[in-house]
Amino acid sequence: MIRAGTRGQESGVRLPPLPAEFLGSFPDPLHPLQPSLPEIVFIGRSNVGKSSLLNALAGRKALARVSAAPGKTELLNVYRVGAGYWLDLPGYGFAKRSKTARAGFRALLEGVAARRPSLTGVVWLLDVRHPPSQDYYAIQELLAKAGRPVLAVLTKADKFSTAQRSRALVQRARELGMAPDELLLTSSTTKLGIEELRESILTAVSSEG
Ligand code: GDP
Repeated sequence: MIRAGTRGQESGVRLPPLPAEFLGSFPDPLHPLQPSLPEIVFIGRSNVGKSSLLNALAGRKALARVSAAPGKTELLNVYRVGAGYWLDLPGYGFAKRSKTARAGFRALLEGVAARRPSLTGVVWLLDVRHPPSQDYYAIQELLAKAGRPVLAVLTKADKFSTAQRSRALVQRARELGMAPDELLLTSSTTKLGIEELRESILTAVSSEG
């Protein structure tokens, strides 16, 4: 189970690197991984800052590619990180996407969330500045059905002052139907919340392994 906490370092300094390796991109949500290890999946709208967050969490510069042109792939990117796997789903909600691509994303998410036996938790990234979009509620329903623990992570907190952040945290929590302490404020730029999120993920993975 992943839990949000309350600490947060904002040093801007990258964390010590974790042993991490990109394993490949796969179209099949049920792509088997050997050896079998606990898995964490990361989801979020295109441009939410997912690649930057994965790099910050792994303490790597370029484990995941920070995109100039968002929303291109429909594949599951897989990383082996420490004693588990990190699954990186394509960003959803890209305006120029076709219906087919959107259905493709949904099938990928459904497969990963509901049918991967080793999936331990879902890290759901939301831009701290924006209220949840329409796709949010469809995904929320899908994840609720899948019955996996979800941690909501607010990204790009550095775009706000401290006072704005606290207000946004309360506002986002209300919109999402969660308690403010169920949301974690992060910034890949200043590293706010990154160490804490890393610890939560590593703990979730090791307690399953
Ligand atoms: P992805 O599409 O979700 O993988 O997002 P990326 O990691 O590629 O980032 C999208 C854009 O947001 C890039 O221009 C990043 O430099 C920027 N970005 C990502 N994380 C942060 C953050 O914590 N703070 C700020 N200010 N910008 C960020």
